[in-house]
Amino acid sequence: MTPGIRPLIAGNWKMNGNWRGARRLADAVRDMAPGLGARLLLCPPFLHVQAVAATLLGSTVAVGGQDCHPAGHGAHTGDIGAPMLRDAGATHVILGHSERRADHGESSALVARKCEAALEADLIPLVCVGETQAERDAGRAEEVVGRQLSESLPLGFITAGGIVAYEPVWAIGTGRTPTEADIAAMHSFMRRHLSQEFGPTAQMTRLLYGGSVKPSNAAAILALPDVDGALVGGASLVAEDFLAIARAVPEG
Ligand code: PEP
Repeated sequence: MTPGIRPLIAGNWKMNGNWRGARRLADAVRDMAPGLGARLLLCPPFLHVQAVAATLLGSTVAVGGQDCHPAGHGAHTGDIGAPMLRDAGATHVILGHSERRADHGESSALVARKCEAALEADLIPLVCVGETQAERDAGRAEEVVGRQLSESLPLGFITAGGIVAYEPVWAIGTGRTPTEADIAAMHSFMRRHLSQEFGPTAQMTRLLYGGSVKPSNAAAILALPDVDGALVGGASLVAEDFLAIARAVPEG
């Protein structure tokens, strides 16, 4: 944790669930959220953003999308613009998730353009970075993450409250996590890197860890310095697990 930053636990539901299940999950999270030290963010599939936002209206739980197009609107079949997400009730948007970088060939330059679109629409971007197993084995993890940070975050990202999630690709959905020492080292590197590029405001940027976070490992990970919360995939689909992770945030 970083002193002065309220931790954020964000759930990435990916391409899962139906309308009814989304409402039920959002309901359960909303009911258990009061009194938690952490802020909560739910990122359902596009189709359910509006229903989840309606369910969470008046609560402290925020809603986000999982991607947006770099243009606000126009002839882009199948895509969603940041203003549309905002209109549906979202306040945040995940960008540059490794599944999008891999499945859709998204470059960091494209992620930066999407960030600009999100900021323009008054959405807080949550940008994912992380190395592959081969890159870590080659001792290139910091070089890769440093380059992704430099190329994915546009001017204005930090002052607008943009969030960064360190998600080693090899830890996502695999049940494997880096050692606590490796997570702490990468978060400290990211803090230094962002401060060099963006100045002292970056000391207050939320740095999340993501990759196989579950109730059993959350407390140890969330207690590490410069870890200001978690981005949770699989475990966010079970309300009790997601809330157990949120409850594992150390007392500030
Ligand atoms: C993710 O995809 O952002 C993620 C962290 O997934 P999981 O928690 O399932 O590893």
